[in-house]
Amino acid sequence: MFIRKQDLKPFASKVWLASPTMHGDELKYVTEAYETNWMSTVGPNIDEVEKLAAQKAEVKYAVGLSCCTAALHLCVKLAGERLYGKPAIGHGAVEDRLVFCSDMTFDATLNPVVYEGGIPVFIDTEQDTWNMDPIALEKAFEIYPEVKLVIAAHLYGFPGKIDELRAVCQRHGALFIEDAAESMGAAYKGRQTGSFGDYAAVSYNGNKIITGSSGGCLLTNDLENANKARKWSTQAREHAAWYQHEEVGYNYRMSNVIAGVVRGQYPYLEEHIAQKKAVWERYKEGLKGLPVRMNPFEEDKSVPNYWLSALIIDKDAMCRQVRDDSMAIYRPEHGKSCPTEILDALSGIKAEGRPIWKPMHMQPMYRCNAFITVNGSGRASTNAYIPGSAEDVGADIFARGLCLPSDNKMIPAQQDRIIEVIKRCFE
Ligand SMILES: *Cc1c(COP(=O)(O)O)cnc(C)c1O
Repeated sequence: MFIRKQDLKPFASKVWLASPTMHGDELKYVTEAYETNWMSTVGPNIDEVEKLAAQKAEVKYAVGLSCCTAALHLCVKLAGERLYGKPAIGHGAVEDRLVFCSDMTFDATLNPVVYEGGIPVFIDTEQDTWNMDPIALEKAFEIYPEVKLVIAAHLYGFPGKIDELRAVCQRHGALFIEDAAESMGAAYKGRQTGSFGDYAAVSYNGNKIITGSSGGCLLTNDLENANKARKWSTQAREHAAWYQHEEVGYNYRMSNVIAGVVRGQYPYLEEHIAQKKAVWERYKEGLKGLPVRMNPFEEDKSVPNYWLSALIIDKDAMCRQVRDDSMAIYRPEHGKSCPTEILDALSGIKAEGRPIWKPMHMQPMYRCNAFITVNGSGRASTNAYIPGSAEDVGADIFARGLCLPSDNKMIPAQQDRIIEVIKRCFE
């Protein structure tokens, strides 16, 4: 390195990782909700969002909810009911509580498993798409043949190896929950992500590809599931003149005001994807010649939504970097760099990058949970990066990768400056 950071002017206003982009129609639908007094968790905006969400994801039904985490929670409950006859997985022997989960993902993918008393078993990541490794998943079933539920996400909007993952699930009679929170609009073999799981969920969180400021949908092809999820999300009221209850409920329904924002955003999904794709491609082009690669996907099968651009540094171009549970340090070296250095340099010009989502098996909370690699049971990760030591793919990508500023409103001139800063880190 030895970046002359002062050589590069900071941006006048911050370039974000991924910020909301409004277009005007959102306000129209929100105003409509206000003026017609549908200021509630009922109303035409919710109906319309459910229609749009199902249409876009190519499923029969969508249930509008307060967030994607809530949607995933109801997915887990539906799976629990189908598997065990009760809407939870926290009953009985430990083997019946294990759930195979993506490891390199945002923790909202698996928090709902824990809400229901399930015990996550983390499945390592593959190199080709940075998602759950089907070979490691198969290994996991060899070790824990009783497991009946798998939850996998599509990281950064880049579809995982869906066919292989589903084939493993089918072979072992397991249900598959698809967390499409980050991948709305991304397709695999011509079909939309969110349409592959037995149950699936999408997110309208503020940093996602389109947003309601918050919100999410549960996706399913089964009317009974949709009705059940809708009922659970409104405190599980039975049909009666009074408040009648036979089971526990939740206050998870989407607000009609939020739905107005989501409704206004849907027509711009494809535009946002095109912008994100352009960002990813400009990075790919601009970083040519550096010892880095962009986040990968299966080009013959997948059309990502390019929500986040990320890069990974070649092993032999990594300078020494050590992370503990809250801090990171590195030793600068000519011709080499590391995510910590690049992130520091980016924040020096007021551009927001972010480390790769820290794998769940490395989180203090899940230190004692099983973690399965392609070689079977593995817990090789350390917080120090030791080149070549990793059979732990997630820990390796976490050590060498980072998310780049991916805002769809970033202009080429800004991105050029960001690319220049990254280049200087390797000088
Ligand atoms: C954002 C996100 C969620 C949660 O979405 P919310 O709508 O914020 O609850 C779940 N899984 C993944 C992978 C996410 O990125």
